Amino acid sequence: MPIYEYVCDDCGERYERIVMSQRQKITCPKCESAKHTIQLSVFAAPANGGKSSASSSSSAGPSGGSCGCTPRTCGCH
Ligand SMILES: [Zn+2]
Repeated sequence: MPIYEYVCDDCGERYERIVMSQRQKITCPKCESAKHTIQLSVFAAPANGGKSSASSSSSAGPSGGSCGCTPRTCGCH
């Protein structure tokens, strides 16, 4: 389930929403404005991208799984 981070265009409040539907209305919890800028998804791009990408690449072993599981036990795919 994707979690998106938003920045309110009106008051600058940062907030996160779990988006279950494209039609879901996203409003600022502070001023209830529907105007916002979507930041990158928490899962796709962590804020400290350099750090986590380095750790994820090092955990990808010879088995080639990016999830850290062995191909036989992998429950990620
Ligand atoms: Zn706001």
